[in-house]
Amino acid sequence: MSTRYDLHAHTTASDGTFSPRELVELAKKNGLSGVAVCDHDTTDGIEEALEAGTQYGIEIVPGVEINTEYEGKEVHVLGYYFDRSSTVLQDLFLQLREERLTRMDRILQKLRTAGIQISEKDVLAEAKGASVGRPHIARVLVRMGYASDIRDAFDRWIGKGRPGYVERFKLHPGQAVRLIREAGGVPVIAHPGLVGKDAIVEELIPEGLLGLEALHPDHSPEERKRFSQMAENLGLIATGGSDFHGAGAEHRGDLGSVYVDEHVVAQLKKRSLMF
Ligand code: AMP
Ligand code: ZN
Ligand code: FE
Ligand code: FE
Repeated sequence: MSTRYDLHAHTTASDGTFSPRELVELAKKNGLSGVAVCDHDTTDGIEEALEAGTQYGIEIVPGVEINTEYEGKEVHVLGYYFDRSSTVLQDLFLQLREERLTRMDRILQKLRTAGIQISEKDVLAEAKGASVGRPHIARVLVRMGYASDIRDAFDRWIGKGRPGYVERFKLHPGQAVRLIREAGGVPVIAHPGLVGKDAIVEELIPEGLLGLEALHPDHSPEERKRFSQMAENLGLIATGGSDFHGAGAEHRGDLGSVYVDEHVVAQLKKRSLMF
């Protein structure tokens, strides 16, 4: 029997709409063997997922997604099987979450200039203590009638080049890769097709890069093939996942719509220093 692992999912610990427990229940329902919890700049969802995973017989792959920037390109770095008690890493996550709050304030300010009245309180109520992201702002925009759905909110207001767009804090992807590796984890470049600059992959190998997310809902079949081949050529682990964010217009893929088999998970474990 083939095993299916979805190695990229978000929960309510960041900008997903499913709680960690609900995510695990859905993984079970969708016939997955395991799911990776990769929230933005936080590991807060992992403990609950592990508990639910034990209960439902779903293997949880602990992870994180760190959004960085390099030469004007968004580079998202996934980390798997790192030491969650690493002070260096948790300090970085804390700093990045604080930067997210600062960025949110600046976005709201720009939106006010554009005639949109949304308060910090509205967004924080939407985020419910989670690592704040633009999707939370997008949901408020939709609820208040400023956009028809999440995608529309990005296209009209908060996506790159739109009136409410604010650049993120410029963490270099090399630093994210290094810190994940130093914490014993396995750093992987997320959805390289969305980065738009292949050379970055090779540049990050000396920093400790070990994998490439070849399979992603936003990758065309050609890109999936190309990045799988690139991973093989460079000796990187080719990973894949749905980038599930929850139900509704904001989701990337359904949970389990993109998956890899157990061999990929075994490779991740082999390269982690945690076992
Ligand atoms: P942030 O981390 O605050 O910059 O928000 C980035 C997140 O917003 C991504 O992880 C996606 O989940 C979501 N996102 C980015 N662009 C879009 C878009 N055009 N439509 C819907 N969601 C998007
Ligand atoms: Zn997200
Ligand atoms: Fe991402
Ligand atoms: Fe993601």
